[in-house]
Amino acid sequence: MSDSADAVDFESAVVYAIPMRTRFRGITVREGMLIPGPLGWGEFCAFPEYDDREAAAWLATAVEQVTTGWPEPLRDRVPVNCIVPAVGPERAREIVAASGCRTAKVKVADHPDSLREDLDRVAAVRDALGPGGAVRVDANGLWDVDTAVDRIERIDRAAGGLEYVEQPCRTIEELTAVRKRVRVRIAADESIRRAEDPLRVAVAGAADVAVLKCTPLGGVRRALEVAEAAGLPCLVSSALETSVGLAAQVALAGALPHLDFACGLDTLSLLTGDAVTEPLRPVEGYLEVPRIAPTPDPDLLERYRHPDPERVQWWRQRLARVRTLLP
Ligand SMILES: [Mg+2]
Repeated sequence: MSDSADAVDFESAVVYAIPMRTRFRGITVREGMLIPGPLGWGEFCAFPEYDDREAAAWLATAVEQVTTGWPEPLRDRVPVNCIVPAVGPERAREIVAASGCRTAKVKVADHPDSLREDLDRVAAVRDALGPGGAVRVDANGLWDVDTAVDRIERIDRAAGGLEYVEQPCRTIEELTAVRKRVRVRIAADESIRRAEDPLRVAVAGAADVAVLKCTPLGGVRRALEVAEAAGLPCLVSSALETSVGLAAQVALAGALPHLDFACGLDTLSLLTGDAVTEPLRPVEGYLEVPRIAPTPDPDLLERYRHPDPERVQWWRQRLARVRTLLP
């Protein structure tokens, strides 16, 4: 374990459970741990199916946050996109209009026969944004290569031009094949998050844009190294943290040498609550870059303290194992 981790008060970590507003990634309740240290609080919320080795990078992000802090930001605020889940066109229009964002990320490929719904949804989003806005779609790796090529071209037309399509297929080889056959830019998300070597995405010529999440990459500094080595335009997206962990993602977006795309950091709206009294929510499509992480509110910590002793024990045992794997 690293020396800095010795200063972290792992024993005082609080296990939380916050219900989701809508089912997302197959989960209805977000669970994780909030951990105090010398510089404040950090968050450890690796998804339950991640193994200990993957989870160690998430914990390293929390340790960086509470022992070292983040590099100096290069900007005061970062643009964010609104999220349009698999909803009907009317609801899609409302979400975009209410967000104040100039970029919308639209979920597509929700089910095998989704094309008609996808086309209606992106057309409604374009209508709500106007010609100056940007529409991007995320297929979460659900298409094969031929389906991706066919769908991307049709969705691009219905959207009046896509900014990019995120993770159309699952593997890096498939992304490379799709990229050769479509004009729309390809963004890699899951490929970078879970790749053994995140840099391989760039090497393989698989993507035009990299979606970074500092949490699974092992911290803000590590993510900045990945951004530099990737040599691609980057944006930052959240891993569904509370404001405590989300602050590190915004800090990364604030510290990237170049930021040409809106970030996927307006994600607190997916949770029914937060651990802090002043959540990191965007104003007019922008999030302010925090210098330090927000501190959990004691009443909110009580409110969202995990009610199930078995789950609390599961998280504590996981933390004990993962601590030993910290870089
Ligand atoms: Mg994605």
